[in-house]
Order: sequence, then C-alpha cells, then structure tokens
Amino acid sequence: MTMPALFVGHGSPMNAIEENEFHLGWRAVAARCPKPKAVLCVSAHWETPGAVVTASDLPETIHDFYGFPEALFNVQYPAPGDAALAARIAARLPSAGLDSMRGLDHGAWSVLRAMYPDADVPVVQLSLDTQQPGPWHYALARGLAGLREEGVLLLGSGNIVHNLRQLDWNRPTGFDWAERINDEVKRRILAGDHQELAAWHMLGAESRAAIPTPEHYLPLLYVLACQKAGEALEFFNDRTVMGSISMTSLLLGGS
Ligand code: ZN
Repeated sequence: MTMPALFVGHGSPMNAIEENEFHLGWRAVAARCPKPKAVLCVSAHWETPGAVVTASDLPETIHDFYGFPEALFNVQYPAPGDAALAARIAARLPSAGLDSMRGLDHGAWSVLRAMYPDADVPVVQLSLDTQQPGPWHYALARGLAGLREEGVLLLGSGNIVHNLRQLDWNRPTGFDWAERINDEVKRRILAGDHQELAAWHMLGAESRAAIPTPEHYLPLLYVLACQKAGEALEFFNDRTVMGSISMTSLLLGGS
C-alpha cells in the first residue's frame, strides 16, 4: 500500500498548542491516513548547505522562535528518531549528509503534535539547501517517492504564501495579492504543472511578494515530486490569514 503524502501550511507556532481550526485539521487528516511506520519531514525551518538527514535516536525538541508564551517553550515532542531509515534516505540522495545531533524544529513538531499526540511515530527530517533552485529540489525529491511504499509518511511543512514583513496579526483573511498567488499555485497543483511550480517566480509579479524567500514554499515541491501519475489530491485548512500567510494544505493519495 502506498502511504499518502502531505504538505501542511504550519503558520504561527501557536498552532501547536491552540486547538484551533488548523490544529484540528491536522489531527483530522492524520486520523484518516494509515498510521505510518515513520515520518520524513521536510520543514522550512532547517536550512543547510547540501541536503542533510537527522540521524539521532532521540531528537530533541528545538524551540526555534522568539516572543511566544512560555507554554510554547515548555512543549516537548519526544518522538524517537530512526537512524537506520535516515541512512537509507541519505543513500537515495546524491551526496546527502547525516546529522546525529540535530533535533526536530517547530515546523515538524508543531504539526506532528496535533497529528500524533502520543509521539509514537519515529520522525526523521531532511534539510533544505535554499541556495539551490526549485528544479534541483524537485529532482532531489523524486528520489524519495519510493519511501511511500515502505510505509513512510512524507510531510512537507511550510506555507505556500509566507511574507512576515507584510504580516498583519489582526487581519483574519489574506491580502488580495496573497489570495491570488495562493489560488494560482492551487490551480497549477490541480493541473499537475510541476515544472511551472518549481519556477515559482514565473507565476507573476505578485509571486515576489507572496514568496519572497524560498524556504516555506520549497517543502511543497518535495510533496508534489512524490505524486504518482493521476493520483488524487485534496486541499484542506485552505485559508489565508494575517494578510500574508496561507495555511492551504494538501493531501495526496488520501481515501
Ligand atoms: Zn514557519
């Protein structure tokens, strides 16, 4: 059986502890999917030169943010790692490294805490080399598709639209340009235009405001690269918030 694959918009770290619509959306999608043997997470919050895979047996919970309530800094997500899986993943990728010290960043644990609250699914992370262009990431990620046949859940965690400079904490919806780019990306996803999505700056002038830096967008490419031909997909948590953050999430191969 092929495991589904997921891209989630993670948004604010507070979504980890607030049982809001996004947190509940992550929980609901996990309940609909078979329980994976392990999770491979590609998060916006781990950038390295070259691709690196976490290989710790007990990855620590990294609190990689500032200015949030103490309750968020107190969260621990003690899911085990899987060093053997990490080595197999690195072997699938050209010149990937292993890091046995690196823990889980909040792009991973804020979402996984909602999906698997018992922290009983091993988690491995793959870093992003954001110096590399979109097609490089897409090609790299093609090498991961076979993991879905091994019961591994591929989890991309970022945001399609993510512009912190434009953020308006009090605005419940997105700015028009943010909504337009998010809609355009969704349309391209539905059309299977992966090469165009890998060159997102070609999606129009507003893409530079919506996707000013690549790290939150790139995890989407990793999930799309593992889509089977004609495979069903659906969107969930499909909303843009705080002006410039889209929470739009994507499930590939769900029932
Ligand atoms: Zn983030």
